[in-house]
Amino acid sequence: MVKLKVTLIPGDGIGPEVVNAAVQCVDALLDVDWHYTEIGDQAIKDFGKELPVKALQLAKKTKITLKGPVTTPIGGGFHSVNVKLRKELGLYANVRPCKTLQGIDTPYKVDLVVIRENTEDSYSGIEFKQGKFARILRQYHMPTNSAVALKTISSKASKRIVDYAFKYAKQNKRKKVTAVHKANILKITDGLFAKSAREVAKKYTIKFEEKLVDNMAMQLVKKPEEYDVLVTTNLYGDILSDLCAGLVGGLGLVAGANIGDRYAVFETVHGSAPKYAGKNKANPAAAIFAAVMMLNHIGKEKEAKKIEDAVKQVIKEGRHLTYDIAKSKSKAVGTKQMTAAILKRIRK
Ligand code: NAD
Repeated sequence: MVKLKVTLIPGDGIGPEVVNAAVQCVDALLDVDWHYTEIGDQAIKDFGKELPVKALQLAKKTKITLKGPVTTPIGGGFHSVNVKLRKELGLYANVRPCKTLQGIDTPYKVDLVVIRENTEDSYSGIEFKQGKFARILRQYHMPTNSAVALKTISSKASKRIVDYAFKYAKQNKRKKVTAVHKANILKITDGLFAKSAREVAKKYTIKFEEKLVDNMAMQLVKKPEEYDVLVTTNLYGDILSDLCAGLVGGLGLVAGANIGDRYAVFETVHGSAPKYAGKNKANPAAAIFAAVMMLNHIGKEKEAKKIEDAVKQVIKEGRHLTYDIAKSKSKAVGTKQMTAAILKRIRK
């Protein structure tokens, strides 16, 4: 049998601990050739570059990558290597399912998916220092020493992501697609996204609606059960998917897939949570769910289900849970102990 080949990027902060948990779960059922590489701060130390050629080559060679979170310096330093990786691999769709799990106390029963455009918007990385736009800003009576970021929206990328959302809805028997934007204020950029969404929606029989992002945030915390598939631009998708993670119990439980025409990268929605790094505190569930999404993507549904069921069972039983989802802080266990409980059920 051909051995599965997967690029493995543990990331930094809590990344290596939670990714290690996911690898153990996959290894318990499948023979995988993991191709280890680094990006971000560790890669700068080892190779002098945050996104080394080796990492990109490996991700392209294996086509599939399991990735831990990578820290992005705030306010300076290198640009997000996560964003760069998504661009380099053409991973235009970011799919983040959020579903209430038995054993997690939440006010609502949620089952929705955020599909986020992954390549443009204010994540274009095109920013200008103070003074560079003085002449144009003056015309608009804005402070001439403002820093400026470009929000880019194209009809090509907008149509592509909305089409992806409808195809996803069809394949997964979802009933409604909601396009989220702010076209009342950003008439040209978000207006283009909204217009593109309407055009694509005409091709499908699935129910379609639009919501302004501010109203969407309110609706999500008031009646999230009314929403099914949300499709939106990069920044709103980033924010709303963290909000939706909160609705189902927190960032420790939610995974995401970055999908392109040729390659795919599976990761947690959460970041590197540096304050918990190396402390055996982080919830491994999100990273394990990322591995579950990866296995489903490559047709290993049986193994994916076994791992997913094991995580759900451990959460439902409630005896081996990390601090973020434990019934009481005094009963919380560490990453390793929760992983061990999951592995025990996978191997049963
Ligand atoms: P974060 O998601 O790392 O953490 C926010 C908080 O959520 C943590 O303090 C913790 O309380 C909780 N949390 C997150 N993951 C958890 C887990 N597995 N178990 C238990 N609790 C968990 O967000 P942040 O602190 O804003 O970002 C830290 C760094 O991560 C930043 O540099 C950011 O750029 C980066 N980041 C990377 C990715 C990625 O690699 N895809 C995604 C998001 C953020």
